[in-house]
Amino acid sequence: MRVLVFAELEEGRPTDLSLQCVSKGREIVDVAGGELSCVVMGREVGGAADMLARCGVDKVIAVEREELADYSTTPYRKALAQLIPDLSPDLILMPASTVGNDLAPPLATDLKAACILDCSSIQLEGGELSFGRVEFDGKAIAKYRGSTAMKIATLRDGIAEPAKPRDEGRAEIIKAEVTLSEADLIERVLRRDVARRTVDLRSAKVIVAGGAGVGSKENFKLIEELAELLGGEVGATRAAVDAGWTTPDRQIGQTGVTVSPDLYIACGISGAVQHRVGIMGAKTIVAINIDPNAPIFRFAHYKIVGDLREVVPKLIKLLKER
Ligand SMILES: Cc1cc2nc3c(=O)[nH]c(=O)nc-3n(C[C@H](O)[C@H](O)[C@H](O)COP(=O)(O)OP(=O)(O)OC[C@H]3O[C@@H](n4cnc5c(N)ncnc54)[C@H](O)[C@@H]3O)c2cc1C
Repeated sequence: MRVLVFAELEEGRPTDLSLQCVSKGREIVDVAGGELSCVVMGREVGGAADMLARCGVDKVIAVEREELADYSTTPYRKALAQLIPDLSPDLILMPASTVGNDLAPPLATDLKAACILDCSSIQLEGGELSFGRVEFDGKAIAKYRGSTAMKIATLRDGIAEPAKPRDEGRAEIIKAEVTLSEADLIERVLRRDVARRTVDLRSAKVIVAGGAGVGSKENFKLIEELAELLGGEVGATRAAVDAGWTTPDRQIGQTGVTVSPDLYIACGISGAVQHRVGIMGAKTIVAINIDPNAPIFRFAHYKIVGDLREVVPKLIKLLKER
């Protein structure tokens, strides 16, 4: 099986999720046999190509062009559509990021490939690829198969450990050229603002997270205090981030990070599927919610029905008395 990974770059480095795609691709090729290639595009991609070449791939295709400095759908789509037929991959893996999920569908149209977005698993079943996706509000994992020869899948955070560069074994790097017409370059990125992550929620063992039920920035200090007393990190739902009570790098879920702590304390969080997909790896989930019918109680291990403004201060008091 020929597997091709599209590596997305952030400040000249492959993103963590792209490196997870490399690991997943390696895993599939190790079982099925075949070749793992990786394509990287941008203004200067020498460093990224060199890193990827040491991450267990068999071949890196590097495209350097000024016009590909910032991601834009049309030039990236056109460039990949020129490169891919020669490589004839059976499977193309991309990160399920804003870029990957934007690029995969039009590219699939160009290549007449099946396209499955936001996969949380890929397995080889009887020699055929099976793609797992969380569906029906988190109640089911649906399995998909592509009927086309070529398949494109975008992979969600947490699908594999990110590939790490090794000292031994460096794959061949092939510099490729693509042709882009003026019509392909009608979109221009004028300004790019990047929100930097300052916290590492992925490796946190304890996370105390607050949702809309926390009610105010002032109340959110209770979440921060409880997290600190437990030696943990603060997490949040999108509702809490949108309200400005904490920073976007603390958002957990579909458009935030995926976490797998030993203990996850959800305060004033309803348990919407977009949040739930980010905490499915948590070993123990404790939910504090005023509504006994809150969806989060369907999957939390410990349930505290109550007002978090009363429950959390009690927990803080108990911890301080220890
Ligand atoms: C494309 C897309 C992507 C998204 N990505 C994400 C994502 O990455 N992460 C994410 O979190 N969301 C995401 N969302 C939003 C998601 O759908 C929900 O809207 C969000 O998770 C709800 O946040 P919440 O649980 O804080 O708020 P709510 O759903 O409003 O729940 C608040 C909860 O607090 C409880 N409550 C109220 N007062 C108290 C109190 N005093 N004490 C205790 N409990 C109380 C209520 O009973 C309720 O259950 C996304 C949505 C879309 C459409």
